[in-house]
Amino acid sequence: MKQNLQRSLSCLKALEHRFKCYLLNFSCVFVKMPRKCCVPCCRSNYKTETTSTTTFGFPKDEELKKKWISSINRKDFLPGSTAAVCINHFDEQHLIWEYRIPQKDGSAHTIERKRPRLADGAYPTKFPNQPHYLSEDLPKTRKSPSLRKAEEITRAENQFSEWCEADNIKSLNEIKENVAEKVKDPWQHTVKENSIFIYKIETSDCPKVSICFQILSNLTVNIFYENARLDTKSVLGFVLGNDLKLDKWTKFDCVLSHLNSFEAKEMSVNQKLSVIKILLHELIEADSENDYSEKLKFISAQLTLAFCKKIRYDSDIILWCANLYFRYPSAYLLIRKTGSLTLPHQTYLRRFTTTLSMDNEDNIHVKYLKEKGKLLKEHEKLVNLLLDEIYITPKLDYKGGEILGIADNSEECVAASTVQTFMVSSLFSSNKEVVSLVPVKNMTAEDLLRYTKRVILHEKFSNYCEFGVGNTI
Ligand SMILES: [Zn+2]
Repeated sequence: MKQNLQRSLSCLKALEHRFKCYLLNFSCVFVKMPRKCCVPCCRSNYKTETTSTTTFGFPKDEELKKKWISSINRKDFLPGSTAAVCINHFDEQHLIWEYRIPQKDGSAHTIERKRPRLADGAYPTKFPNQPHYLSEDLPKTRKSPSLRKAEEITRAENQFSEWCEADNIKSLNEIKENVAEKVKDPWQHTVKENSIFIYKIETSDCPKVSICFQILSNLTVNIFYENARLDTKSVLGFVLGNDLKLDKWTKFDCVLSHLNSFEAKEMSVNQKLSVIKILLHELIEADSENDYSEKLKFISAQLTLAFCKKIRYDSDIILWCANLYFRYPSAYLLIRKTGSLTLPHQTYLRRFTTTLSMDNEDNIHVKYLKEKGKLLKEHEKLVNLLLDEIYITPKLDYKGGEILGIADNSEECVAASTVQTFMVSSLFSSNKEVVSLVPVKNMTAEDLLRYTKRVILHEKFSNYCEFGVGNTI
């Protein structure tokens, strides 16, 4: 019995031993031990180490694997399937410590990882226990391409706005402070209280200022060439812009550069003309009371007309021409024929002299009368025609594109002294209307008969009334 018991016990012990061995084997299979680092001189996860270190297996990509092998600098090393490199040899930029979960709106949720993963293309670069030259310093930051691009754009925009800010000229004082530095030979400068002159002196012959520009306190510019003032817009408009202001340092440099090579022969006909016009204008403005002022105005207007592409006559010229043409038509035509002056065609002048009559279909007064006639009752259409004379001061005037005040009964252009008025007055109501006004001078009986017939026989007038006329003529 005792022997049986001892046998059973020894059997149990044997089973226990076998079970322990089995358990041990089991743990060997299923408990993953941290992999030792294969980098020379690195002791990560060796038995002597008390802490375990994260390791990464060699990549499957052959090119990257070669890069790993050459980086770790271990002679004749061929990594097996369990070969690994510990985290200590990877740059922080190559380690990814979070999960990114993209959202529909383009943003991403991030969750921290317990164990990092390697970024695409990561390879060992840090070898602390080996000679320094074996390690590689990666560029400080490596951000995503889109982030890098966005930062580049922001940086460029900031730089540009800073540059623009620095390029602005805020006041004349700012130019005064910097002009000495900006203006180099052959340019010279003179600073005055309200302006700065920048000029070039010609010394080849008799010394003289060849070209000069003056910057005023509102930053506009005057240009002078050989003692004449040029038109700023035609010479520098393309640099200064619409407001013609020198409000940027880049414009300043451009102006210097352009004017440095400026020569009169480069001036177009228009530029030369504008110089002459500016001088004429200055002379006219200087003394408008002077005798020659009117002559200069005429010359200035003719100069403009001589070279402009689309001719537009000003009111003074039209009045002057009308005066001449209506008094001495053949003289006017002769002068015009010579081509020495730019004068309007006679039909153009005649267009301006339409008087208030019923001749014109579009005459607003005739239209009014027609409308008024429709509103009148039958008995109101029986009217008297009243004739009257209004005395006026003889004077020609130009208004709304017409020359007013020329006598209608004169062959020549004579100012009217009276206005012959034709009025209708209803016999059986208080309705009264002016139907025609004719400016005249020294009207004869024949003239009056002609005008009266014109009024009565005009078909527009017949629309207005039944002819109850007769007794007042
Ligand atoms: Zn290591």
